[in-house]
Amino acid sequence: AIPLVVAINTSLAARNGMLVRDRIAMEEARNLDTIVFDKTGTLTEGEHGVVDIATVDDIDEDDAIARAAAVEGDSEHMIARAIRQAAVDRRVRVPDSTDFEAMKGRGVRARVADETISVGGPNLLRQLDAGAPSSLQRFADEAGENGQTVVYVVREGETSDGTVSQHAEPIAAFAMADVIRDESYRVVDSLHELEIEVAMLTGDSRDVATAVADELGIDTVFAEVLPEDKDEKVRALQKQGKLVAMVGDGVNDAPALTRADIGIAIGSGTDVAVQSADVILVQNNPMDVTRLVKLSRASYRKMQ
Ligand code: ADP
Ligand code: MG
Repeated sequence: AIPLVVAINTSLAARNGMLVRDRIAMEEARNLDTIVFDKTGTLTEGEHGVVDIATVDDIDEDDAIARAAAVEGDSEHMIARAIRQAAVDRRVRVPDSTDFEAMKGRGVRARVADETISVGGPNLLRQLDAGAPSSLQRFADEAGENGQTVVYVVREGETSDGTVSQHAEPIAAFAMADVIRDESYRVVDSLHELEIEVAMLTGDSRDVATAVADELGIDTVFAEVLPEDKDEKVRALQKQGKLVAMVGDGVNDAPALTRADIGIAIGSGTDVAVQSADVILVQNNPMDVTRLVKLSRASYRKMQ
């Protein structure tokens, strides 16, 4: 049987746009020590726009956008959408691409006109062991300081048999701006008032993560985390004796949602995120995380 307090909690929650899949989670929410938020699409709108471009000498901006848009043709990632939109806005012709490959948490790769081109962030450059030339590096540093996400266009070599050559060469960088959601400011403040620590977990670069965290007053930042390592960060907090909730929207967040004591999928969450969560916040409003904790605390007090 379901204890009465939990049943009341659950129906109250439902009326507030919170779907509770694990009723015990609702009861435990009152004891949370730390809440970990995914960044992109959770604390931020997740709708990037390309705001600045840098290229190496023999590549012009439209050329870089055209190749990148070709590679991103089959990606659902928000970054991909922004790059395709930049191609539309600039009216550049996007060449065909083949052999599309998604590299989770790193970027994408495809064949474009006899070249293997990849597009992705710092994690991609690390994987390819490719250093950015100093002009692109300066551009990336500056964008990072402004809290902008940087993605690189990398030429992996001109092989005829489709294998990747040794020399991966970044040929352009795009600065992408995302917007912090209004509710994110309030959720951090309100959780602090409840004496709950707030952490952020992201695959994005340390620069961008720090800029967003500083702006919001977030206590702990985990940046440049690969999708397969996200649940480890949650576990590390649990090892410190903390009761941890994770809030996320994406496929990448699923293992961390499962690992957390309470997994919270938010709004437009993917099916995978929703299936991994204990609570689903239907209204896509981060402030509902605070409401969830308050509801749990209030209901519990009432029954004592
Ligand atoms: P987050 O954890 O912030 O939701 P992801 O794990 O989806 O981010 O991606 C992490 C990083 O991998 C991105 O910031 C970006 O640098 C790179 N990346 C992932 N997918 C793509 C893509 N389709 N195009 C370009 N870069 C990508
Ligand atoms: Mg996300």
